[in-house]
Amino acid sequence: MTQNYLENLATERSETAITDYKPRFTDLQAVAEANRCLYCHDAPCIQVCPTEINIPEFIHRIASGNLKGSARTILDSNILGLSCASVCPVEVLCVGSCVYNHMQIKPIEIGRLQRYATEYAYEKGIQFYKKGPDTGKKVALIGAGPASLACAAQLAIMGHNPVIFERHTLPGGLNTTGVAPYKLRADTSLREVAYIQEIGVEIRTGVAVGSDVSFADLEAQYDAIFIGAGLGPDSFLDVPGEDKEGVFGALEVIEALKLTQFPAEKYPNAVVVGGGNTALDVVRELRKLGVPNVTMVYRRGEAQMSGYAHEMAAARQEGVQFQFLALPVEYVGEAHVSAVRCVKMALGEPDASGRRSPEPVAGSEFELPANLVALATGQGKLTELFGKISQLELNRGRVVVNAVGQTSNPKYFAGGDCVNGGKEVVNAAAEGKHAAFGIDAYLKEGN
Ligand SMILES: Cc1cc2nc3c(=O)[nH]c(=O)nc-3n(C[C@H](O)[C@H](O)[C@H](O)COP(=O)(O)OP(=O)(O)OC[C@H]3O[C@@H](n4cnc5c(N)ncnc54)[C@H](O)[C@@H]3O)c2cc1C
Ligand code: SF4
Repeated sequence: MTQNYLENLATERSETAITDYKPRFTDLQAVAEANRCLYCHDAPCIQVCPTEINIPEFIHRIASGNLKGSARTILDSNILGLSCASVCPVEVLCVGSCVYNHMQIKPIEIGRLQRYATEYAYEKGIQFYKKGPDTGKKVALIGAGPASLACAAQLAIMGHNPVIFERHTLPGGLNTTGVAPYKLRADTSLREVAYIQEIGVEIRTGVAVGSDVSFADLEAQYDAIFIGAGLGPDSFLDVPGEDKEGVFGALEVIEALKLTQFPAEKYPNAVVVGGGNTALDVVRELRKLGVPNVTMVYRRGEAQMSGYAHEMAAARQEGVQFQFLALPVEYVGEAHVSAVRCVKMALGEPDASGRRSPEPVAGSEFELPANLVALATGQGKLTELFGKISQLELNRGRVVVNAVGQTSNPKYFAGGDCVNGGKEVVNAAAEGKHAAFGIDAYLKEGN
């Protein structure tokens, strides 16, 4: 029997207190927005969507009242169209390329229209896909994140038998445990997983490949294997005091507030270290949960931040404080952290690539009160895990694949963060689906 993971999700979760930042359109809003679309012939929005959704077509279908057809257009290209509608950084993807941007007119809200159509299909229980005639071929997939889910759905539609192994107790990958709740809640991620299970995808949670089940076992029992294991755990900075209570990895904090009741009231002073989108997500999440003093500490300047400018502007508006050109050198306190000691940084001379490295300024140390520290300084790579797979070529910890998603070990294919080094959900969805076609061709060769 298919497991319903929504039943395993706690009902009391901090994320439910955080409001949706781009709520679903009403019927009137959706039709009005759809009618603004110019239905460009060479639509630039399609070209920048990694899953190449026919955006003008799905919007036209909304305008003409054909919501079922609209959802079909979306999901035919991207089976994760429901989550992507809310999590895609549309400002730098489809919406950012809308021709209205060049006319000083507000661009079409493509993500919100996509959400309107896909939620309609989910609410009406419309399942467009079913398992294809059985080929008898079995494919194991490692990790139940967006990459494997997209790959497995496509494999099932082609008639293969995909089985996903997931080490966490809940499937969905970072959509369930990591994406900011004001974009996507864990229950919506699990609804999307259920939609994919219905197509004929089996998921086995609580099974870590490489320890609970060996790669040799998978190789013996399956005709092909897809690696969709994402990136490794939070990276730490190796600064004194990092082992104190109250010092967490950013993903730990996000997962706790998405899946459990996070005691935000215990933390009046929070410091988040990092300058990327994960750091921006955490500071915003903590503010939205009522933490009064949230400071983001970044060793370079604002201009060098890798986080999106629109997320930065939102964080600033929500009352987050910023400490640029500062680096933690010690987490101070007894058993529990009470402050972060930082040193001020100055940008040095540009190197050959024009990048200016930050250098500590002597005698500039200062302390920021903190009883919660979240380190958003990146995720490690799964080099050790991948080292257990024979002949698997890696490049700086990333799995190397060819044009069809196949690795240097012909039985293994891969996609998502473990290949691209950490992009977006829509990239993982595109790469997972693409690899399914590579796997199909490999299996048809008699493997
Ligand atoms: C904090 C954070 C916020 C983000 N926010 C956004 C956002 O707003 N929008 C967006 O588009 N993207 C966002 N991203 C990026 C996005 O989440 C990823 O690009 C996407 O989830 C990658 O999908 P994936 O399937 O490759 O990996 P993941 O989602 O990481 O899934 C990999 C899965 O593999 C499992 N796994 C790992 N090792 C094993 C093993 N040995 N055995 C079994 N299972 C294993 C993991 O438990 C995990 O469930 C965010 C990322 C982070 C870290
Ligand atoms: S999947 Fe993402 S990038 Fe593609 S059209 Fe939808 S919201 Fe835009």
